Amino acid sequence: MFNDQPTVSRRRFVSSSLVSAALLVVACRAPATVSQTSPTGASTSSALASTVLTPTAANVDPEDATPAETEGPYFKPNSPERTSLVGAGVVGTKLALTGQVVSQHGQPIAKALLDFWQADGQGNYDNAAYTLRGHQFTDAEGRYQLATVVPGLYPGRTRHIHVKVQAPNQAILTTQLYFPNEPRNTSDSLFNARLLMTLQDAADGSKLGQFKFVLNVG
Ligand code: FE
Repeated sequence: MFNDQPTVSRRRFVSSSLVSAALLVVACRAPATVSQTSPTGASTSSALASTVLTPTAANVDPEDATPAETEGPYFKPNSPERTSLVGAGVVGTKLALTGQVVSQHGQPIAKALLDFWQADGQGNYDNAAYTLRGHQFTDAEGRYQLATVVPGLYPGRTRHIHVKVQAPNQAILTTQLYFPNEPRNTSDSLFNARLLMTLQDAADGSKLGQFKFVLNVG
């Protein structure tokens, strides 16, 4: 779903680079090891060849994990559990954000924690209370839904929503979601195209966003 994702991810680039490097090492060493024999009777060249031919976990074509981002200065622990952050007096264009949390192998993760926090439509965080802050858990299919508003801009940043995501008994992923076609996306050093949600206009003037989180789980 990452339409703006680079065609060659960093992981795949690194993986292919490592394989290329391994092949180069084998290619360089092979002539010198053809006649060598290990204590088990297997030739060294055979051992090296099997190392190259055996697929590694990184080459099984898992979905690339959602990248982490800085937490920023406005996170507050102990947010209320709720799927709607739109309460009385909340300023901004309504946004319905939906999606799924899956493992690196594409398996849905039930009961994953998502803790969202963001600025209101005017770019202001509520640091005194919990306006536009809330956590929830994914359902049995790993799905989540958040009713919120499109965050406003504040100095130095492009439009974004902060979130922490945690599969049960796994490490916390702290990251941020971004909005497509934002002029400041190109100038914000934290912006990552892999964290772009897809965004559509609803008939009533609100927005519909979607994002799938991919977690590396053990
Ligand atoms: Fe922020």
